Amino acid sequence: MENKFRIYNTLTREVETIVPNENGKIAMYTCGPTVYHYAHIGNLRSYIMEDVLEKALRYAGYDVKRVMNITDVGHLSSDADTGEDKMLKGARREHKTVMEIAQFYTDAFFADCAKLNIRTPDVVEPATGCIPEFIHMIEVLLEKGYAYAAGGNVYFDTSKLQEYYVFSSQSEKELLVGVRDDVDEDRNKKNKNDFVLWFTKSKFEDQALKWDSPWGVGYPGWHIECSCISMKHLGEYMDIHCGGVDNIFPHHTNEIAQSESYLGHKWCNYWFHVNHLQDKSGKMSKSRGDFLTVSLLEEKGYDPVVYRMFCLQSHYRKPLEFSYEALENVSAAYVKLVKRIADLKPEGSVDAGRFEEYREKFIQALSGDLNTSMAITVLYDLLKADLNDATKYALIQDCDRVLSLNLTTAKIHNPEEDTKVDADLERYILEKIEERKAAKAAKDFAEADAIRDALLEKGIVLKDTREGVVWHKA
Ligand code: AMP
Ligand code: ZN
Repeated sequence: MENKFRIYNTLTREVETIVPNENGKIAMYTCGPTVYHYAHIGNLRSYIMEDVLEKALRYAGYDVKRVMNITDVGHLSSDADTGEDKMLKGARREHKTVMEIAQFYTDAFFADCAKLNIRTPDVVEPATGCIPEFIHMIEVLLEKGYAYAAGGNVYFDTSKLQEYYVFSSQSEKELLVGVRDDVDEDRNKKNKNDFVLWFTKSKFEDQALKWDSPWGVGYPGWHIECSCISMKHLGEYMDIHCGGVDNIFPHHTNEIAQSESYLGHKWCNYWFHVNHLQDKSGKMSKSRGDFLTVSLLEEKGYDPVVYRMFCLQSHYRKPLEFSYEALENVSAAYVKLVKRIADLKPEGSVDAGRFEEYREKFIQALSGDLNTSMAITVLYDLLKADLNDATKYALIQDCDRVLSLNLTTAKIHNPEEDTKVDADLERYILEKIEERKAAKAAKDFAEADAIRDALLEKGIVLKDTREGVVWHKA
């Protein structure tokens, strides 16, 4: 492989050139969503950046196989195996079964991904589909002496490892452990960091999904699923493992502990972690309830792809603060960019030499630790450059294979054309906008939403801006 694709590796704390285990092929794994609620736009920041990484690697000439799990069992409200199963919480909240909740939010997740042009990984596997694989791995860990049974559960014994804190030189006190509601000391654990591989007993006996196992009827811990699902589809050697920074500890630390103990050799070479999206009050969290979703952005009149561009303009390793002001700026820049591209007259032939020159610049940006904002700058540069329109257009189409911003296909809104309707419809729209305002003032948000939907059915989109409500044809 000629291209030297470099990314920051959390394991070595250095930006490194990727050297895959198998020449030209990259085995990539992504921790999928816990499907007890909608994904918030913070979760989706991680999936957008992982999507760009995958597409950039393909663009650079690698053959990528990407696998993702769906967490539909075992993820407790604290990442350290205490608290209630998140899926059960979701089911109770909505008076549905766990599997109904899982199906609904899995579909919602992929619908959001589609709107953000996130490619579905080659393999998507729900945890509940792999119970025999989990049981097998736990049996091997017990046989090899890396696990023990206590109080009805099976635990991984971290004292058997030479090194447990593989990701950090920090002391254990400095490491944060997930969401700390409902945290209770588990007295079955021999060491503080031991983690559950299989539960048959927990404080929450009403766990809905249970399976038979050599240790009794129960359910798997969260960490085991990613080790098993990745090995099932990618084999014993993995190249890149992805997730948000909150996954570093304990989730990925525990994945490495159990995978390498099971395999008896090194498992994954590169660890790619995306920093968090925050709002003004701090980290976003699904358990907080009032979180930002793609649908909410759409309701406010934003094309989801504008949020994708918002993410691409920042480096994945830096925290990113979300605000509507910042999104509005990106939205304006996006509209301008798309209009500029639509004005190109791509007749004539593409200049192959100049095409390669800019393609090289684009790839340089991406292969320098996924510098997406620089990659976007290359777009602006090539639009300004002394190139014919056919070459510019071909380059933009080519770059959009990675950026996925609909640069040559987005519908451009023309304010005059988009608000041209007959007088009756205009009167109706203005009446409905007033009714919606009144409904909102009376805190009747269901009615306000129903009015928005009724207008949408007539092909009219409302947008709440700082200057008030504006509308245009869909
Ligand atoms: P979950 O559905 O909670 O299992 O999380 C799905 C993915 O989103 C994981 O890779 C998390 O690390 C990631 N994630 C969680 N919160 C954020 C955030 N605020 N910003 C970016 N990524 C996040
Ligand atoms: Zn995982």
